[in-house]
Amino acid sequence: MLLWIKGKSKLENDNVDMENLHPDVRGRSGRIGPNHWQIRNNVMHYNVNDIYPCIQGEGVHTGVPMTLIRLQGCAVGCPWCDTRETWDCLGENKVALTEAMGTNAKWAGLSAEELLAHISDQSQRPHWILLTGGEPAEQDLGLLVSRLKQAGYKVAIETSGTSAGHFEADFDWVCVSPKFDMPGGREVLPDCLGRAHEIKHVVGKPAHIERLDRALNKVRLRDDVTISLQPVSLSKKATELCIETVIRKGWRMSLQTHKFIRQR
Ligand code: SF4
Repeated sequence: MLLWIKGKSKLENDNVDMENLHPDVRGRSGRIGPNHWQIRNNVMHYNVNDIYPCIQGEGVHTGVPMTLIRLQGCAVGCPWCDTRETWDCLGENKVALTEAMGTNAKWAGLSAEELLAHISDQSQRPHWILLTGGEPAEQDLGLLVSRLKQAGYKVAIETSGTSAGHFEADFDWVCVSPKFDMPGGREVLPDCLGRAHEIKHVVGKPAHIERLDRALNKVRLRDDVTISLQPVSLSKKATELCIETVIRKGWRMSLQTHKFIRQR
């Protein structure tokens, strides 16, 4: 299990050495809250920004109802990010789940059992659960995914490919939307691309496709991987470029259909 304190077991520590915290927990601003524990009372806790039922709007599962769990924390720093409120896990923003829900920087620390209980309590119960963020793979997801699957759910993740917290988890679907050369300095891990069922790349100009090609050429992909291109902001130029490329390469288009139906 990934531990957040380097050098010695977190379970053995009562005093947090702030200098030795794993860089993944710092978020883009480098700030960190005093209560940023991943393990409390020997139980793994996950940093949760929001939970809500939705219709998947992108990629292969477009149109499929899912319960979206948005995890808090992301060190990637994409300039166009539309969920910046998820970047930092500040102690002053740690609240109960009911207060964290919605689009804001508040977050709650929940165990897998608490998350499962919350989802099971909802009147809407999609078969699929989607872990997203933030960057969900900055947290160790093995236990959570295992518990959700025991309860009968199928579990998917959307990740930037820059962290490995999903490597030990038995996901039914791994979608990597690779974020290359971002200000946070996080590299896209070849192993992340190699494990992906779906690689979904946001494209604005030809250089973005060339960057993806360079990364894919260095990796052994799954035989059944689906590669899709998503035109940034549905701009005319980007859409035309994506159409031409997916026809030529035999890839797929991904459109942000949730925006058509005004869903977040
Ligand atoms: S990886 Fe996702 S959440 Fe993180 S900065 Fe990029 S778009 Fe935002």
